Amino acid sequence: MNQSHIKDEIEIELKNVNKWYDDFHVLRDINLQVRKGERIVICGPSGSGKSTMIRCLNRLESHQKGDITIEGTPLNNDVRNIDAIRKDVGMVFQHFNLFPHLTVLDNCCLAPQWVKKQPRKEAEATAMKFLERVKIPDQALKYPGQLSGGQQQRVAIARSLCMNPNIMLFDEPTSALDPEMIKEVLDVMVELADEGMTMLCVTHEMGFAKKVADRVIFMDAGEIIEENNPHEFFDNPQSERTKLFLSQIL
Ligand code: ADP
Ligand code: MG
Repeated sequence: MNQSHIKDEIEIELKNVNKWYDDFHVLRDINLQVRKGERIVICGPSGSGKSTMIRCLNRLESHQKGDITIEGTPLNNDVRNIDAIRKDVGMVFQHFNLFPHLTVLDNCCLAPQWVKKQPRKEAEATAMKFLERVKIPDQALKYPGQLSGGQQQRVAIARSLCMNPNIMLFDEPTSALDPEMIKEVLDVMVELADEGMTMLCVTHEMGFAKKVADRVIFMDAGEIIEENNPHEFFDNPQSERTKLFLSQIL
C-alpha cells in the first residue's frame, strides 16, 4: 500500500496505559504510536475497551497509569493541556450527540464561537464550508430531529471539522444507522482520509478498513491482541481470538 500520506512525526503516543473503572481493569498496558496522517481502524468484541481507549485520547475518560502524549503534550491533570488537546482532537460518536434545541448551523458554530472566540460571521462561513463538504448545506437551518440519521451524523462530522482538528476520533459512527445511510457517512470519512487527516476509527465496517486503514488493531478484554495492515489482518490473522472474532463478523 502507498503510505506516502504518513509523516514521520508521532502525533499520538500511548505508553503502558492502564485504566480501571473501580476494580474493573478495563485497559491493560496499551502501547500505541500513531504518526501524522495515519489511519487506524480499531475493532474487537463489545466490551473490549475500544470506546474507553479512544475516549482517553481527548480526556472524556482519564487513565490511571502510563502516559498518553498528543502532539507532544502530555495528557495529565493540567487543564491547560486538556484544553489544548481538545481543540486539536475532534470526536464523532455513535449517537451523533448533536444539541437538539440548536439548528444545524448553530451546532456547528457553537464551539468555534465560544471556545475559539470566532466572530459569528466567520464561524458561519466555516460551518457552511464544511456543511457543503458533507453535502448538506441545504439543511443548515433545520433542527437535528428533522434530519435522517445519516444526515445527523454528517452534521456531527462537519461540526467537528469546524474546530479545524488535526486528529479525528470516530466511535462506531455508522452502527446506529440504517444500512442505506451507512455509505453516505463512510464516503465522507474516506474523503477525510484522502485529505490526510489522522484518524482513529472504531468500526466493524471491514470494507472501510480495507479501503483506508494503514493499520487495523484488534482489542479484546482491554488489551491490544494483534495489529497489522488490513491485507494481513483479514487474510492472515495470527491469534485464535482474532480468528474467532473475524469468523463472527465476516
Ligand atoms: P467497547 O467500546 O469495546 O464495547 P467499552 O470501552 O465501552 O468497550 O467498555 C469496556 C468495559 O468497561 C465494558 O465491560 C463496560 O461495561 C465497562 N465500562 C464502560 N464504561 C464504564 C463506566 N463508565 N463505568 C464502569 N464500567 C464501564
Ligand atoms: Mg464502544
